[in-house]
Amino acid sequence: MTANSNISIKLVRNVPSGTPTIDDFQVETVDAPTKESLKDNQILVRNLYLSCDPFLRGRMTGSRNSYVASFEPGNPIEGFGVGIVEASANPDFSEGDIVTGNRFLWETRFVTNSLGFVKVSSGSGISAGSYLGVLGMPSFTAYVGLISISNPKAGETVLVSAASGAVGQMVVQLAKARGLHVVGLAGSDDKVDFVKSIGADAVINYKTTIDLDAAIKQAAPNGIDIYFENVGGELFDIALKNMNTFGRIAGCGMISQYNATPETAYYIKNIMEIVIKRITISGFVVSDYYTKPDYKNFIQEVSTKFKEGEITYKLDEVVGLENAPQALLDLFEGKNFGKRVVKVSDISDKQ
Ligand code: NAP
Repeated sequence: MTANSNISIKLVRNVPSGTPTIDDFQVETVDAPTKESLKDNQILVRNLYLSCDPFLRGRMTGSRNSYVASFEPGNPIEGFGVGIVEASANPDFSEGDIVTGNRFLWETRFVTNSLGFVKVSSGSGISAGSYLGVLGMPSFTAYVGLISISNPKAGETVLVSAASGAVGQMVVQLAKARGLHVVGLAGSDDKVDFVKSIGADAVINYKTTIDLDAAIKQAAPNGIDIYFENVGGELFDIALKNMNTFGRIAGCGMISQYNATPETAYYIKNIMEIVIKRITISGFVVSDYYTKPDYKNFIQEVSTKFKEGEITYKLDEVVGLENAPQALLDLFEGKNFGKRVVKVSDISDKQ
């Protein structure tokens, strides 16, 4: 990579439903921005890591009916990232600062007005990539969904879908630390082994288990008090059947439905369980919680436990910005193993 070559990843068209393909993205080489072009308060950022997150699929639909704006075809993809400031016309930022935020463009380097960008420190056991992982948005999502939403109590049982993923692996560990019986669902034997290794009491490979209902009953003999819902579809239906009276469901996401069409969408059959069992279902969006005390509490607990080795966090790193579109599409086929990030450059790369 040279200082004047810039890769830029753009969305070619909206994909309202169905499965997006690699052709829905365009990888271009364009001129890199220069520090001479900076206007007041702007910074020039070189990406270190970009985050692949399921919610980016929602931004590809063109829908106006969402909690986050849709991408405009022809514009670069935008999401969470970590980068290094290469030049600054903003008194709050200096060359060499490591910054993070959710308005990182999928370009090697980009210029921003820096609104929403925060400085982080890289060192003392916390790597730059950690700001997308163990201390990043998905981990905080786990904290909000479990601690702020679900009111977990020691001895209760929590079922976690997509348990090896960016959110799920943190739910498992936070729940174990609070004395819950943790049951995970994961899509391969390697993922099952990993989720067991981070403390889950039982983990089910939902793809190879023929009678999932029976397997959940065996893994959760006292029923499910909390279902941490990451997946939706049939897994949600089976979880509903196994919920205890006054159970709680944290409605975090439903990735199995993000590429659905009206014809393939899964419609819940066991919906009456909500009434029979007096179940509380609380949908939530993590961005509502950054200004609440929950965020400070999360950083305090998780950074301490991570530094002391009480929490582990699996990053799944794909190298090269040009590979970012496929890295994102992989999430919807379970091809990621842990929190998927794209490594764009090294801190030490020449400017
Ligand atoms: P992730 O778990 O790291 O990756 C997605 C995983 O979902 C895949 O590895 C796969 O795991 C599973 N999956 C994909 N397609 C599936 C399907 N058709 N059926 C069943 N499982 C499928 O992703 P994440 O970042 O942690 O996100 C997990 C969920 O949390 C998503 O629904 C996401 O939208 C949601 N989320 C919500 C918020 C919020 O604020 N509410 C914030 C962040 C994330 P397996 O191989 O185990 O099937």
